[in-house]
Amino acid sequence: MGKKWVYRFEEGGEALRDLLGGKGAGLGEMCRAGIPVPPGFVITTEACNAYYEAGRRLPEGLWEQVLDALREVEERTGKRFGDPDRPLLVSVRSGAKFSMPGMMDTVLNLGMNDAVAEGLGRLTGDARFAYDAYRRFLQMFGRIVLDVPGEAFDRILEAYRQRGPGLRQDTDLTAEELREICEQFKEVIREHTGQHAPQDPFEQLRLAIAAVFDSWMGRRAVEYRRVHRIPDTLGTAVTVQTMVFGNLGPHSATGVAFTRNPVTGEKQLYGEYLPQAQGEDVVAGIRTPKPIAELAEEMPEVYRELVQVAERLERHYRDMQDMEFTIEEGRLWMLQTRAGKRTGAAAVRIAVDMVQEGLIDKRTAVLRVDPEQLAQLLHPTVDEAAREAAHRDGRFLARGLPASPGAQSGRVVFDPDEAERRAARGERVILVRPETSPEDFHGMVAAQAVLTARGGMTSHAAVVARGIGKPCVVGAEALVIDREAQEMRVNGRVVRAGEWITVDGSTGEVFLGELPTREPTLTGEFATFMQWVDEFRKLGVRANADTPEDARRARQFGAEGIGLCRTEHMFFTGDRIYAMREMIMATTPEERRAALAKIEPLQRQDFVEIFRAMDGYPVVIRTLDPPLHEFLPLDEEAIRETAQRIGVSVEALRQKVAALREFNPMMGFRGCRLGILYPEITEMQARAIFEAAAICQAEGVHVEPEVMIPLVADPNELRVQAEIVHRVAQEVMARTGQRIPYRVGTMIEVPRAALLADRIAEVAEFFSFGTNDLTQFTFGMSRDDAGRFLPRYLEHKLLREDPFQVLDQDGVGQLVRIGTERGRAARPDLEVGICGEHGGEPQSVRFCHAVGLDYVSCSPYRVPVARLAAAQAALGELTRDV
Ligand code: PEP
Ligand code: MG
Repeated sequence: MGKKWVYRFEEGGEALRDLLGGKGAGLGEMCRAGIPVPPGFVITTEACNAYYEAGRRLPEGLWEQVLDALREVEERTGKRFGDPDRPLLVSVRSGAKFSMPGMMDTVLNLGMNDAVAEGLGRLTGDARFAYDAYRRFLQMFGRIVLDVPGEAFDRILEAYRQRGPGLRQDTDLTAEELREICEQFKEVIREHTGQHAPQDPFEQLRLAIAAVFDSWMGRRAVEYRRVHRIPDTLGTAVTVQTMVFGNLGPHSATGVAFTRNPVTGEKQLYGEYLPQAQGEDVVAGIRTPKPIAELAEEMPEVYRELVQVAERLERHYRDMQDMEFTIEEGRLWMLQTRAGKRTGAAAVRIAVDMVQEGLIDKRTAVLRVDPEQLAQLLHPTVDEAAREAAHRDGRFLARGLPASPGAQSGRVVFDPDEAERRAARGERVILVRPETSPEDFHGMVAAQAVLTARGGMTSHAAVVARGIGKPCVVGAEALVIDREAQEMRVNGRVVRAGEWITVDGSTGEVFLGELPTREPTLTGEFATFMQWVDEFRKLGVRANADTPEDARRARQFGAEGIGLCRTEHMFFTGDRIYAMREMIMATTPEERRAALAKIEPLQRQDFVEIFRAMDGYPVVIRTLDPPLHEFLPLDEEAIRETAQRIGVSVEALRQKVAALREFNPMMGFRGCRLGILYPEITEMQARAIFEAAAICQAEGVHVEPEVMIPLVADPNELRVQAEIVHRVAQEVMARTGQRIPYRVGTMIEVPRAALLADRIAEVAEFFSFGTNDLTQFTFGMSRDDAGRFLPRYLEHKLLREDPFQVLDQDGVGQLVRIGTERGRAARPDLEVGICGEHGGEPQSVRFCHAVGLDYVSCSPYRVPVARLAAAQAALGELTRDV
């Protein structure tokens, strides 16, 4: 016998998921569990791949196997394909291994033709039903298999709905009207294809199978797979199944149900149904479906059976199920079951509840939740009832990309300075911009949330907002922002500056007015879940935190220390920037010391508070890193103001600004080079650190400072900087009489440092991979300019992922591996971490686990995400399709 391309439902099941797709496997599983499923068969994913290999031709032997299987279905149902007296109709659906909702095609009511429609009308005594089924078949087959534009059909239907008193729904159309519609649909098909719609059911079936295979490579499907990282090589299966009719009179219906609430996770049957309808009506939103609870009153017996089936399926799969069902003249049929998609909140609650119900173990629970989904939970969310009400009342304004999670309300402000001013007065504002640039940063910090008309998920606004944990929606294309008029127009409405809006960065929605939100709860199920996560996790998780406030939040989110405190941010706030500028303008070490002396107490105080917040945990503090010009004023007015405040001439300051201008600042006078030329800076920072540590230790706080030198490329650079730190540490300890446990280490963020890691580790007591810079220097791509060309790389698949978001394991990853191995070879107890953006990205965390790093460090909001990713890495499994 040749290759087996076709499986009866009964022959399938979860074990054959690769071959039969999720839908096919689910139907097999249900059949074997004795759940009512209309008979049918599945064509394998291998057949799909063979179809493409043969240049889009059905593989040898497939058609004969389909005919055999069809014959069996005929025998079991007592119906016959194309027989007007007892017609068998089938659905032809796609079904890949991973669910790709709505991305591929489906044809229902296949087997219809003129004679069958006539016969079906006679048989059921319901001509209306028969012609409704026929027109649906023509419409779907025309659109999907024959490529006729859908609007051509919609226009005709719409014209009929407009007839008669008021606007009618399609259930109001009469049999005669539907018959006319069928004729017109056939005409549309002839016009567009030059041929009649096929009347031969076998011909229909062959074409439909090929069309479903074709839809695997359709644009939508390819794009969906790219985003969800599903390989193109999996192929789709095709399910051919006896039709049951939810539109066969008043005791028929079709619907979708979840075994638990997919929004909250609550244990209750959840879903909706439409009486007298076929499946696609629910999806297309033609009529508003009824909540499933009403079925309990309308058809109590069917409802009871559905509840039982739901319970059985959930127990069988040990996971929340999303089921499609049809009720045909009072009889329940299950058409599909699969693991249901759910919100982050629901995922956590269901996982915890199921452990407590004894359905799954903790390990499974931890693997069930997608780390990215956890991010949703850490921010306020729009109250669900309020969201629905806002949609109903027409307060929905626009939808953009959900760039940074969380929901916030505030008054519309179009200008970042204005945002800052109003926020300083205690007002809540939303910064609305066509797009944002680094100059808008202060406005973004001041705003409750950010909304832009343009830009993608990695636009400046998106990246910055995620970094500072602000809700953000980008690329809301419907917005037309008119700064002159201080208003925006959106879908025919005008929203003026000062009006309230609500931005939901978790869904991308924007609403008019102030919608109630719910605060994140880090207690209850979340706390229980995170406790289990930590039981499995081996990798440490620290936070990147620059301020005492960040440090406190990091602890709330479970950070076990600070992996990166960027001290430069402390130089920007308030008056400190002027002292910094004085320092830069100084011409002698004495002048520099005098200026630094003004900053030192402020810096010390920040460290005191950070150490207190991190009592008992290590704190990595990095010495000054950015190019100095970043601290100098740019425009004339600011130059004049600064010159006056710090007592230098405008001309001198202007010259300094010009002198510090660099061709390539990221490779210029920055990192440890600053401390090498101006050792006073390192000295001052070290003193602030150790004095703060001494103060805290005297209070009984357990401190563990780790001083980190940035951008080291050669052991000698580190040696001279480390000497300063050790000398100051000794001085402070001698003066205060305290022994402070501390370490001196370095960032590994240029390739040479990774290659020379053994020699660097002779000096460094710890490493932290600065993968932002390491990526930049390994690729030779400026992290600030990559936005110009990287999107094209991703679009054309020159790179699979943005290497500034997902660690490039092939290249940068090699350096991380080499650096770790060589470093530890020289110093076995070397502590190794990572503090680039990648430290909070699940795939990269998994890699860090595999390489054997001691910890990852990421923004406080990402800490729970990293904890979960680390636990899943330890459990050694991928999660997907949850
Ligand atoms: C890095 O380069 O990865 C890093 C954490 O430092 P920064 O982003 O401050 O350059
Ligand atoms: Mg860096």
